[in-house]
Amino acid sequence: MNIAVAQSGFVCAFCRKPLPIVDGRIQPWRSPAGQFFCNEFCADDAEEASFQRHLRGAGSAAKFKVEVSQA
Ligand SMILES: [Zn+2]
Repeated sequence: MNIAVAQSGFVCAFCRKPLPIVDGRIQPWRSPAGQFFCNEFCADDAEEASFQRHLRGAGSAAKFKVEVSQA
């Protein structure tokens, strides 16, 4: 099963490199969301990137809200 995954061309969800293969089996780092990464560092970076997007979105929404209430 793992070899079939490797042959299907699975790559890291963050850096897009092929997932690591140990002893002929793909050995990805799997995130709680079900995405595959090279290792925990790529998983952390991907999580941080999406978290920062979320923060920016929330921040601009809050700013907009304040501007509206002051107008
Ligand atoms: Zn990676």
